[in-house]
Amino acid sequence: MSDLKALTRELAGANRILAHEGVVDAYGHISVRHPDDPTKYLLSVSKSPEFVEPDDIMAFNLDSTAVDKSDNRSKYIERPIHGSIYEMHPEINSVVHNHAYDVIPFTITDVPLRPVLHSARRMKDIAPVWDIHDKFGDTDLLVSNNDHGRDLAQSLGKGRVVLMRGHGCAIAGISIADAVQTAVYTMVNARILLQALMIGNGQVKYLHPGELTAPGSQNEGGKGKHNRAWETLMARAGVSL
Ligand code: MN
Repeated sequence: MSDLKALTRELAGANRILAHEGVVDAYGHISVRHPDDPTKYLLSVSKSPEFVEPDDIMAFNLDSTAVDKSDNRSKYIERPIHGSIYEMHPEINSVVHNHAYDVIPFTITDVPLRPVLHSARRMKDIAPVWDIHDKFGDTDLLVSNNDHGRDLAQSLGKGRVVLMRGHGCAIAGISIADAVQTAVYTMVNARILLQALMIGNGQVKYLHPGELTAPGSQNEGGKGKHNRAWETLMARAGVSL
């Protein structure tokens, strides 16, 4: 039996970190795969991330139905983003959905969101753009059922970021700390790339494909004393685990 209580606390803390860094605002969410049962995941009830507490965390099946059917608390509409990614990508253990403004230009133009920063190596690849209109026509753009979710999860491919046209993105990580840092640095990468495209008249030096896969000292799991970034993110948000 894993320490479910500690993981629940970490997930609540991750919500506050993402809010503090401006990755999420009133909307957006982060989940973690259940440590004792890979067919379930943990996610807050419908709440702004900066207010999420451990008691808000619920368990869901991969079809995004609640494990406890009697729990009538309000739930995020877009939880199929999480369930569908866990269903299709067994190596992924944490998922973030956000509407970070910096990434939006890359969802509505043909300019690819491509890693340019060493700290964005976690993206693993150029972020594909998923357009809900391609398969589902005119919708409210929300990933509100499992057909939407599975189509999005398929678009993720081998990378860790999939952009959602006119909406935001979904980020996948092997741990909570990995997903949080990938979400933060994807947003920062988007901001810096946009600036570089402007001052460089479109000429930018991207990370080489081999630089995205070269082994490095960055700890993907994001835990332990070697991960200063994770410690700093926690401290800045006033989170202690
Ligand atoms: Mn959304």
